[in-house]
Amino acid sequence: MRIERINTWLTCGDPHELEGLFAHADTLRHEHVGDEVFLRGLIEIGNYCRRECAYCGLHAGNRRIARYRLSADEIMEAARKAVACGFGTVVLQGGEDAAFSKGFVADIVQRIKGELGIAVTLSLGERTAEELAAWKRAGADRYLLRFETSDNVLMEAVHPPHPEAPGRFETLQALRDLDYEVGSGIMVGLPGQTFATLSRDIALFDELELDMIGIGPYLPHPDTPLGQTQAISALDCGSHDTEAAAPALSDQVPATPDMVYRAVALARILRPDANIPATTALGVADEGHGRLRALAAGANVVMPNCTPVRYRSLYEIYPGKDSTSEAEETLAVLCDQIHALGRTVGVGAGKSPSFLKRADRNRV
Ligand code: SAH
Repeated sequence: MRIERINTWLTCGDPHELEGLFAHADTLRHEHVGDEVFLRGLIEIGNYCRRECAYCGLHAGNRRIARYRLSADEIMEAARKAVACGFGTVVLQGGEDAAFSKGFVADIVQRIKGELGIAVTLSLGERTAEELAAWKRAGADRYLLRFETSDNVLMEAVHPPHPEAPGRFETLQALRDLDYEVGSGIMVGLPGQTFATLSRDIALFDELELDMIGIGPYLPHPDTPLGQTQAISALDCGSHDTEAAAPALSDQVPATPDMVYRAVALARILRPDANIPATTALGVADEGHGRLRALAAGANVVMPNCTPVRYRSLYEIYPGKDSTSEAEETLAVLCDQIHALGRTVGVGAGKSPSFLKRADRNRV
């Protein structure tokens, strides 16, 4: 799809046409990745971070949160719980923290693979090719690293470079070279993100040949530089006024659930073989409906939180995350919702067809 067409969909004011977009994405989802919804157990392994991301509640300068790291045994305990819930994958996510060293992460990956045999996904920020290679050798299967926005100037402003961090696109390239299943994505409605930028972001999903695409609304956090200066809020924006004149290319993208559904649907159309989660942030922004509506607009993955409840409230990248429900409770609700959509809960690791096809191509 050409970038102009992406922009037309993002700015479309006709609800009827938009229903057509969501239905088309849903059909492609059914044809390419089937009716299974895969559940990934998210384990937030620590909130220490060396970075100063202006949007994220875990940024290094935030003195208002207590910092924590899970021990290897605590991570194992959470991973066992994820397996008991039937999840075929765990995602180990955390801040960019030197304590999650090459050796520590390699050991934990090896332990999870050895004892539980499930797929392991890492999401630990920008790391060196050497670290990524060691973790792949230890058995890591996948890596998630959002590029957040394709606008370099905006990215530098909200995500200042760090002398020891390789950069997002460099890390994504290293992951590809190492044969990881590669996930990336964006926040929708980041202050400064225009419709022109968002169209380019979405086109990049295809150029980067992503296997997994995570898209969520930007949610302002009061203890962040951006949250303090920006009044734009996903909740304040309300719904996009579909009767108004179409927005211009240079207009700020609203951080609304509606805009995220459009981006999810377009991501499915551009990358029909990718795994696309209905993200937690969307669940927060469109309370009660977000995940379901995303699942009906192209998404096929949900990531229930398996972090020990005692640490949950400390991993506050944005406000409003559910920090009390045990994974089992979330699972029961999710399963009912998935069945109500006429879908089934995925069994096994749920590799993306996009990755499987690339692996096949590389073999010949
Ligand atoms: N340190 C890792 C994991 C970060 S948390 C990394 O940087 O990759 C995962 C994602 O949460 C981020 O990539 C970002 O897209 C999202 N996020 C962070 N702050 C947010 C906010 N205020 N609102 C919405 N999403 C946010």
